[in-house]
Amino acid sequence: MIKVTPQMPESPLRAGIQELCAAFDDAYWRALDAEHAYPTEFVEALTRAGYLSVLIPQEYGGSGLDLAAGCAVMEEVNRSGGNGGACHAQMYTMGTLLRHGSAEQKRRYLPRIASGELRLQAFGVTEADAGTDTTSLRTTAVRRDDHYVVNGDKIWISRVDHSDLMLLLARTTPLPDVRQRSDGLSVFIVDLHEAIGYGLTVRPIRTMLNHSTTALAFENVRVPAENLIGIEGQGFRYILDGMNAERILIAAECVGDGRWFIDRAIARAREREVFGRPIGANQGVQFPIARAYANVEAASLMRLRATELFDRGEPCGAEANTAKLLAADASWEAANACVQTFGGYGFATAYDVERKFRETRLYQVALISTNLILAYLAEHVLGLPRSY
Ligand SMILES: Cc1cc2nc3c(=O)[nH]c(=O)nc-3n(C[C@H](O)[C@H](O)[C@H](O)COP(=O)(O)OP(=O)(O)OC[C@H]3O[C@@H](n4cnc5c(N)ncnc54)[C@H](O)[C@@H]3O)c2cc1C
Repeated sequence: MIKVTPQMPESPLRAGIQELCAAFDDAYWRALDAEHAYPTEFVEALTRAGYLSVLIPQEYGGSGLDLAAGCAVMEEVNRSGGNGGACHAQMYTMGTLLRHGSAEQKRRYLPRIASGELRLQAFGVTEADAGTDTTSLRTTAVRRDDHYVVNGDKIWISRVDHSDLMLLLARTTPLPDVRQRSDGLSVFIVDLHEAIGYGLTVRPIRTMLNHSTTALAFENVRVPAENLIGIEGQGFRYILDGMNAERILIAAECVGDGRWFIDRAIARAREREVFGRPIGANQGVQFPIARAYANVEAASLMRLRATELFDRGEPCGAEANTAKLLAADASWEAANACVQTFGGYGFATAYDVERKFRETRLYQVALISTNLILAYLAEHVLGLPRSY
């Protein structure tokens, strides 16, 4: 299919990812979606080619590139018609390990993650009773000699079945004993092979998209004390620290989705003839596509601005959050325009539009919902009172 939406400046990195993704076509993703199966072959190919370790420093076997490179990978995966949600966690959890992990933890895990021997694809934060209010989470990790004992429940923890390691956020000091709610939470690296069947139970949750998400129950799961990342009680700050990178990476995925929808919509609008002419000759068909195009490109510029600031080490909370908000809205608008352009065929699995439509809808809710982004902008950028 011809790509009408802008190509990012051609680079060997983007060209390489595009070539790799081309081997995993619509039929590949469609078949997995029908079965709710994990794209193992694709993730392995991406790992072997080194694309999932672009953020790992060279001394640990990665390519030591910046966030712009990570964004290029995720954007191109989604733009090709695939779903970066299958493997993006390795990118956005990386900052926690890189910035706050000990030298020993980095030596132990990073080279093996870079080589593909270990997958760090699971991130255990959300709980049913806490929801968006993360500091209310109830999973506890209690220190006993040389290990912690973890008890509690998590929900919506994705890719646990396809990962070797999970970053886990748990409370190490009870809420009544901390000065601030954000104190007393800690991050651990959990070796899933030592946990599943040893107190950790994993229950798949069937969702409207193919996302390998699960509910977790921890019953006296032992996690070695050496797996604590950074200082006990500071974990929430470490997670917040990774927030900007996470927002920017998701924005890149949304831009990839948005451009995919627009390219598909344009191709359909040109080809499909009704009333003796292409449907794209009608303003009612072309204007929604044109508007979606404008919004995706505007979101992409904000994403590029946020990435630039991030990679220079400058504050970028406002830009990263704005980029995520605009890109998620733009990809969703493009998804709607695409379905409308396809008419009834937009609902048929054979055209892939409905699959991508379901996939891009997630970004309004996860990893962070639109309202919480708006709340961040209102409070931290506009100086309005905290609303929650
Ligand atoms: C497919 C999928 C995969 C996921 N993968 C992971 C994962 O790997 N790891 C992980 O930790 N989590 C994961 N999540 C969880 C996801 O991050 C949460 O669903 C999301 O953060 C929202 O939390 P919640 O579902 O509890 O919604 P709730 O907190 O119940 O919120 C429901 C709605 O109310 C709104 N709302 C809540 N409070 C406010 C407020 N103060 N002001 C305005 N609006 C508000 C929210 O914006 C939202 O729209 C995943 C979720 C899904 C659906």
